[in-house]
Order: sequence, then structure tokens, then C-alpha cells
Amino acid sequence: MNAQPLIEARRLSKHFDVGRGAPTGKKKVVKAVDGVDFAIRRGTTLALVGESGCGKTTTARLLLRLETPTAGSVYLDGADIHDLPRGERAEFRRRVQAVFQDPWASLNPRMRVRDLVAEPLVANNRLSRSAVTDRVAEVLTGVGLTPDHMRNFPHEFSGGQRQRIAIASALISQPRVLILDEPVSALDVSIRSQIMNLLKDIQQRLSVTYLLVAHDLGTTRYMADRTAVMYLGRIVEIGDTDTVFEGPAHPYTQALFSAALPARPATESREIVLDGEVPSPLNPPSGCPFHTRCPVKIGRRCEEETPKLQPVPGPGGTHLAACHLMDDMEGQRG
Ligand code: SF4
Repeated sequence: MNAQPLIEARRLSKHFDVGRGAPTGKKKVVKAVDGVDFAIRRGTTLALVGESGCGKTTTARLLLRLETPTAGSVYLDGADIHDLPRGERAEFRRRVQAVFQDPWASLNPRMRVRDLVAEPLVANNRLSRSAVTDRVAEVLTGVGLTPDHMRNFPHEFSGGQRQRIAIASALISQPRVLILDEPVSALDVSIRSQIMNLLKDIQQRLSVTYLLVAHDLGTTRYMADRTAVMYLGRIVEIGDTDTVFEGPAHPYTQALFSAALPARPATESREIVLDGEVPSPLNPPSGCPFHTRCPVKIGRRCEEETPKLQPVPGPGGTHLAACHLMDDMEGQRG
């Protein structure tokens, strides 16, 4: 496995102006993504998890160039994707594709599968019609469908098959990165593991790099090599998936996991119930953004000082959490 990151976000931020507040007339800004750093190695998967509104979808849109960052950058193979010369943008669209949650919404119902799947290829290439058809047959076979399916319309397929068509369409231009935005959450539970296995198989065969946006922790654990937990536009914990799931260190991650995952059979576990709602991103808390809900807040420092991501004491060297408790643990250890 290549250790070099293929795609990297550095201090990435996206703030949205949402008008002016009365009576001061002060600009109101939503910090949807606020200083996010991560790197994804070639052929691996990073998952972004968190409650809705935490910034994971905006981060995915920034990686697709559907949004322009307010600050910071995204690099693909060392090149800033928001600073590409005009002539390289079509190539970027070929190299970075997306699969969305709802295969109904992402497939034009009036187009036959052949034309749906071929669309990105036809837009970016000058292949002959028969070469395009051969390539469509090849990718359909690669996602578990058959060349005969080319003649059909989307409504003639089940939800799982439609998602296979969407994946084939994303793969036809031989992308290096796939943004998977909740790729199985609209599917029947019985179909989900088939699509997850397909995506894993494709990654192994083609060495495609995935950014997975998911609220389902089971999908994350199964699919992702690394997991980043987001809260109010920031990454509060990031590390190898097994390390984060086995030993979540940030109080928010602990609460999220205890609410969403079944108790581990071998250990005693109880659900941590968080007080209150996620604060409005229009008026985020000072200091640690989680302090208004944190069950183990350590006083004024949490209200005044924003914690930075720092190593979590323990054997896993690749695990970071943004919480002042990490300092205290580090102090006790040293
Ligand atoms: Fe809780 Fe303080 Fe850690 Fe934030 S920094 S998660 S408020 S203990």
C-alpha cells in the first residue's frame, strides 16, 4: 500500500453568509466546516461521521469542487483542486466521482442504462460508439450486472441494482477517488452488505480511494480504514477505525457510539445520554464547541479555550482527539 496521501485537506473551511441579524446588523455566518485537516492514502477509505449538520456533507462537496473553500485547501496528488487551470478541470471531474444516497434521484428515469452509465465517458472522451458500449458492458459486469441490462430503464431494477448502476456510472471514467455520500442508507438492510462488499471488492481490484460520508456506524466500521468524527464543523477525533471504535477518547465520540452501537457483548456498557440539542452553528459555543453538552467538562478552560487535536495516550500512535482531557492524561502518564 502506498503511504503517500492521494487526497489531503489542510485547514479546510467553508463559511456561509446567511444575512444580517437584527438589531445590530451584524453579519451572520454559519461555519459549516471550520479548519479541517485529513489525508487519505491511495486505495484506502476515510469515513466522516457525526450527527446531521456536523459538516460532513459540505466537506464532501468541497472535495468534489461543488463548493469553494472560505479558507484552506484540498490537494489531489499535490495539486490544489480549487486552483486548477481551466484545461485541467475536466480531467479532475473524470478522476473524482461520487455515489449518492438515493439511486432514484441520481439516475435519469428516461435514459436507458447504457446511456446513463456511458454519460461521463461520452462527455469527456472521443471514443467510438462500439468502444463505449464495450466499456459499459465491462463496468456493468464489474458491478455484478450483465451487458443485457444496458437496454433497460432504471425503474426496471431493484434499489440495490440501481445503486450498482450508479456505481458503474461513477467507475466508467476510471476515477481515482470516489466520494461515497451515504451510499447504502437508502437501501433495504438485506441489500446493504451486498453493496458494501461490492465497494470493498472494487477498491481492492482498482485501488480507488474512498471518502465515505456516513451516519451509520456499522457501515463505517465495516468500510473504513480510518474514521474522523465531526462536531459543529470540526474534526474532534480521528484515527484508525479499529482504534477509534475500540477506544473512543473524545467525550462526544463516546456518547455518539454508546447511543448508536449495541453494547459490546464482552464489556459492560451503558448509554451516555447527551443533554440538549446540537447548538446552532450560527452561534456556536466559545472554547470547546462540545462544552454545552459535555458530561465531563472540566470547568472554565473548556468554555474559554478551543482544544486542538492531539495524540491520545495509549498504544495506538495514529489516533488524535481534540479535548483538554488528553493533556491531563498525558500529564499523568509522563
Ligand atoms: Fe468536554 Fe472539555 Fe473535552 Fe470539550 S475539552 S470535550 S468540554 S472535557
